[in-house]
Amino acid sequence: MKKIGIFDSGVETPEEIIMAAGFVPFRLFGDPTIQPEKANEHIPPTHCIWTRNLLEQAIAGLDEDIVGIISSHGCDRTNREFDIWLECLNYKFMFFLNSPRKRDDVALKFFIDDLKELINQLQDTFNVEITDEKLKESIKKMNKIRETLREISEYRTKYILKGSEFHALVKKVQQLPKDEALHMLETRLKELKESHDSFANGMKPILLTGSDIDDTELIVLLENLGFHVISDDLGVGTKYFWNSVDENENPIEAIAKYHLSKPIHSTKFPSYERYNVLENLAKKYEVAGVINIAQKFCEPVLYDHPYLKKKFKELGIPYLFVEMTYNRESYSQLNTRFSAFAEMI
Ligand code: SF4
Repeated sequence: MKKIGIFDSGVETPEEIIMAAGFVPFRLFGDPTIQPEKANEHIPPTHCIWTRNLLEQAIAGLDEDIVGIISSHGCDRTNREFDIWLECLNYKFMFFLNSPRKRDDVALKFFIDDLKELINQLQDTFNVEITDEKLKESIKKMNKIRETLREISEYRTKYILKGSEFHALVKKVQQLPKDEALHMLETRLKELKESHDSFANGMKPILLTGSDIDDTELIVLLENLGFHVISDDLGVGTKYFWNSVDENENPIEAIAKYHLSKPIHSTKFPSYERYNVLENLAKKYEVAGVINIAQKFCEPVLYDHPYLKKKFKELGIPYLFVEMTYNRESYSQLNTRFSAFAEMI
């Protein structure tokens, strides 16, 4: 089945529309085993390493079933770099979705209009019809996926499901055909319901936040140091299934409202609202600490750090900020920081 690649610094791209057009939504992830050499010819090496990594892969050639790319408005990196993608890639469908920075009524109307434009362009380019019925069917499927993920996520709280396994599951869901993804999730949920094996043994529950961390190995590294990611506000995590799309409303409006009511990403306004979500999660899951990880040169998350540091200090919850290089060889350098934090909490 043909795929539409998603280049998105958050999870703002409406997968339902891609599904209703007959394609598999396929979120692009970084590959921490490669270096951005070709990408550095287009983007200064002092810019976000994650997007340079994606561009490197795009220049080398993406999954052969991908027939088009949607990039959603996120940070300045994804926004400006889409111009470079237009120059370097040769797909007949390349769309920049202007997911708004704000969340008021004007922003909602603006977003609905751009979603309609996305639908028009998909229909014209691929000669398909995206009907309300197809959109409603996709919304139902995606809601079922979100609901199942919410249920599975709670097994992290029971120390039955490791944060790394959960992270890998969410990643797969963002790339697999959705029927396959749903089947995978339902099978895993059934197993979890029957499982009583707990790995609690002294693991320290933490809340993970920051840039959209997409390398599961980093979560494994944290686990090996005694942390358990009991909750998060990541795009490869709770932000992907936090709420559901209203199935009784006009489908395009419902999709737009869904995206504007999710926990806010650092790239949106007012980004400090992120703290309220994090505070609630930290209290709900009684975390021992909060770890905020920024990809190297991720400005939105760097801007949030001083505010989060101050607020978690006031709250009395230990907080660690680290900036990482998107490269597995460099992970060992983070060990010292993480280990010191593990001793402190
Ligand atoms: S890691 Fe940060 S700078 Fe890079 S794409 Fe994501 S939000 Fe933007």
